[in-house]
Amino acid sequence: MGLGRGMKRAAVAIWVLNALMVLGVLGLWWRALSPAAGRPVVAGDSTRTEEIARQVTLRKMYAGNPSRPWIALTFDDGPHPYYTPTLLKTLRQLQVRATFFVVGKNVDRYPELVRQMVRDGHQVENHTYHHLRLSQVPLGTVREEIEAGADAIRRSTGRVSRFVRPPGGMIDQSARWVAQSESDVVVMWTQDPADYERPDEQTLRRRLFESVRPGSIILLHEKVPVTVKVLPEFVREMRRRGYEFVTIEQMWQDMQRAVIQPASRQADGLPSPRFGGS
Ligand SMILES: [Zn+2]
Repeated sequence: MGLGRGMKRAAVAIWVLNALMVLGVLGLWWRALSPAAGRPVVAGDSTRTEEIARQVTLRKMYAGNPSRPWIALTFDDGPHPYYTPTLLKTLRQLQVRATFFVVGKNVDRYPELVRQMVRDGHQVENHTYHHLRLSQVPLGTVREEIEAGADAIRRSTGRVSRFVRPPGGMIDQSARWVAQSESDVVVMWTQDPADYERPDEQTLRRRLFESVRPGSIILLHEKVPVTVKVLPEFVREMRRRGYEFVTIEQMWQDMQRAVIQPASRQADGLPSPRFGGS
């Protein structure tokens, strides 16, 4: 019996060793296959810098550098002959530079409004030509939509757009296009307060305030009066907490720098946002 128990113990030990070896091999295999494989080596590596590096490598922007007290306001679907001038006036009064993801067919209809955006220092970028749901069309149509949107911006402003926001946030097809293109970047967002549902002021205010953090990209729309109403209070309160409003281009350039520079160095001399405010 003693010998039998010893053999059993040995068998169990061998089984455990085998299991550990299999787990080890699986672990190596998993590391090789994980999306992080093949990313650029980042000086001063940290989870934050890794996440920025991932976005820069894939040219998919989901959020700005979380080490910066920066917020990017983005306005989609314009220009609109009635609402855009009011929004531009409000942004001018607040001295905020925003990013407009415009729809090409609207740009062709109201090019003067787009030129005004540029004169005011805003960034004008591409939200396709017809605002089609890109996940439901062939890749050739995706290319046409993005190129026609960029052409409309070039015709009205003389500027080359580089950033694309897919209508409805349906990113897959646009990401495939961007992967093929030389330089385009897909831009998503960190917060969608769903202003297009036209919530009342209090609801929109709550949605805007509740999840702001450094590197926020906020999705808003041009055709929503309540957004323009709530904007001044939001901007003033965020500035009081130490935040700064920047464009998507500013955020992107900063993220590219963050991948090259050590995280410790880029944090030097930065004002920190004051958290825990009301
Ligand atoms: Zn849209």
